[in-house]
Formats: sequence, structure tokens, C-alpha cells
Amino acid sequence: MRAVDIIRKKRDGLALDAGEIEAFVRAATHGDWPDYQLSAMLMAIWLRGMDAGEITTLTNAMTRSGTVLDLSDLPGPKVDKHSTGGVGDSTSLVLAPLAAACGVIVPMMSGRGLGHTGGTLDKLEAIPGFRTNLSVEETKAALRATGAAMIGQTMDVAPADRKLYALRDVTATVESIPLIAASIMSKKLAEGIDALVLDVKCGNGAFMKKRDDAQLLAQTMIRAGQSNGVRTEALLTNMDAPLGFAVGNAIEVIECIEVLKGRGPADLEELSVLLAAHMVRLAGLAATDAEAEAKVRKALSSGQGLEKFRQIIAQQGGNPKIVDDYRLMPLAPKHLLLCSDRSGYVTKLAAEPIGRAAMLLGAGRQKAEDSVSPGVGVALRVNIGDPINAGETFAELFARDDADLATAADLVKSAFRVGDAKPELPRLVLEKVAI
Ligand code: URA
Repeated sequence: MRAVDIIRKKRDGLALDAGEIEAFVRAATHGDWPDYQLSAMLMAIWLRGMDAGEITTLTNAMTRSGTVLDLSDLPGPKVDKHSTGGVGDSTSLVLAPLAAACGVIVPMMSGRGLGHTGGTLDKLEAIPGFRTNLSVEETKAALRATGAAMIGQTMDVAPADRKLYALRDVTATVESIPLIAASIMSKKLAEGIDALVLDVKCGNGAFMKKRDDAQLLAQTMIRAGQSNGVRTEALLTNMDAPLGFAVGNAIEVIECIEVLKGRGPADLEELSVLLAAHMVRLAGLAATDAEAEAKVRKALSSGQGLEKFRQIIAQQGGNPKIVDDYRLMPLAPKHLLLCSDRSGYVTKLAAEPIGRAAMLLGAGRQKAEDSVSPGVGVALRVNIGDPINAGETFAELFARDDADLATAADLVKSAFRVGDAKPELPRLVLEKVAI
């Protein structure tokens, strides 16, 4: 089977068969095709799309291009959650301990932040000593001990995706629903899970800005999961404004601990509980959404979730004392307060510029190889719809030094609007996606 024939077939808009898709994925994994042919194929897929059967085969082949965790020797349902990426989106740190406290086994393999969106690994690594690079044996030991393992993707998970994503990044082929769905789902299926909850973000701070695109991505990922034997459900959630108040790494960890103590921001608590409840029901530990939510709320109010987070931190080498003493977290020394220049109601807190400001301060990366600063970020003091007076603080910037502070401040100011009338409050959950 010649590469050029497979590329031509997709270029002409025909569906590829399983053998052709597998040849492409093998070539990406082992270097059998030169980069220009892999890239031509990616562009053909970008232009012509793929049908549901092709996406299922592509996802499956990409999953099998590397190691797939075999967790069959661990008793209990294994369920994870994946978010397509947002600003201030730290639900993983809240829901993993809550779901584990309810009896779900949570093998959570996460990524790092890129661009204006944050990444779970960067947040966890802000906890002094916390290790995300666990071996397979250490991951299983963590799952046995605490019910959750929060780890990074090792080099041998979905290597075809690693190669293809690097090429997509430089060939303008990232924004393709079949390619995004196969990329995300291949890495999730490699966790050896039974079920998956997807949080597909939609809005100005998300990958998918338009509702139709977000719906289509969610439906495509649900089908790719279901047809590969993983019970998959998806919620479409709003990402026009950051989730919670904190956008950074250490400050988001602290905010999550506050949620687990029952005094965090309402939106972060609500979404974390809802996603954890979906995990509990999909795990078969509750018959209905209401029963699952009651279990998760009990784990939260009883402090079991907080205790579980302490155990997870200790199990992965981190200092669990941070839960009780935030001074042990690495917070940046320089603070800048931003104040409103007029009175009224907060009508806008745009997620994308706030995420970019946090990235500029060092919380995120412009290039995959950049390192991050754990203690920097943007802490909002208000929500959309809140009344505010002229001169009142609406955000605080945490910085290492003066570099980029003025630009970051301008970005946060550009995200903020005050109007005379109280705006309609945005809905956090837009819909449960059906296929
Ligand atoms: N995240 C991924 O892992 N892959 C994509 O293609 C897009 C977002």
C-alpha cells in the first residue's frame, strides 16, 4: 500500500478503510512515511473530514500505537474526566478526590497547559514535592492506596498522537474535529478506563468558540469512546469567563482546597460536583444522577473529599501540610491590584485575555518546551453580575518581577467591563450532549 495512494484517496474525498488508516498510524509511530507525506495526509483529513467509522478506527489505531494501561487486576470501576481546556478550569483537582472518596477508581492522565489554557499537571506540580511522572507500577500502587492517580502522559502513551500533533501544530491542521477527537480520545482510551465524562468547553476562552462546533466535537468524541468500548458522556459548559476566581497554578490549587473545605467559588464547586456525580453514576455506584450527586455532596460536606486530597498528595510525594497552611505554597512576591474606574455592575470578564495575561506572567507556556512559574497568576475578586464601586479592586496580579506586568495588567483590564444594568447571569452548563 503506497502512501501516495492513501493520501490521494482522502484528497478525493473518499472514506479510508481500516488497513489504510492503520498504515498511516503505523507510519506516524515508526517513521515509515516522511513528514511531508504525513502532513499531506493531515491536510487531506482537515479538508475532507472523516466519517464516524474512520474516526473510530483512527482513534483505536492511535491508542494501540503505544502502551495501554491494563488495570484489570484492580477491582472496581475505572472512570476519568477530560476537559477540552479552559481558563481557571481546575475541576480535576476537586472531582478526582470526590469521586475517589465515593469509590470510583480514577486513573487520571493529564496534559500541561498550552497557550492561554492551563494544564492539570502544572497545577499539581505547584504543590511542593508532588510527582506526576509515576511509573506504571507506581500508578497502580497509588490507585490501590487512594483510589486516584494524577499523572502525566509518558513517552510511550499514544506515540502516534505525539508525532501527528507536532506536525499539526506547524501545518495549520490543529482545528479539525476528527483529528482533535482522535487525539484526545486515543490518550484517554490508553488509561484502561471503563467510562469517561467529557467537559467540552465552549466560549471565548475555549478551543471551540461556537456552540455548533463544540456540540459536534462532543458527539464525535462520545461516538469514538462508545465504539471503542468506553461508556462516554459529555457536558457542554460555558467558557466565556474563567471558572472560579483564580487563574494560575499555586493559586488554583489553593482555590480547589477551599472548594473541598466547602468555602470555594460556587461555579467551581457546582461544576466539579456535577462532573464527579456523572463519574459516580457511570461507575455504576448510583442508579440516577440525583443519587450520585447526593453521594458526592456528602463526600464534600463530610470532609472525606478533602481527606482524600491529602492522601493523594502524600501518596505522590507532595507535602500534604499545604492543605492546612497555604504559606507552604510557592506564591509570587509581587502583587498588583487593578481597580474599577467606574461604578456599576460587572458585565464582562473575558476568559481569553485573562488566560493570556496569566500565561504572560509565567503561569503557562507559549511553546511546549517553556517552563512555568508556579506562583504567578491572576486572582479575580468579582463575578459577572456583581455590583462594583469606582476604585474597588476587581483583580490582583501575582508576578515574579516587573517583566510583562504592565502588558498583563492591560490584558486583564481589557477583559473587564462595567455597565449600568445588572446583566443576565451566564449559564454554567449549556447542555448534556446527546448523540
Ligand atoms: N488536545 C489534544 O490532546 N489534542 C488535540 O488535538 C487538541 C487538544
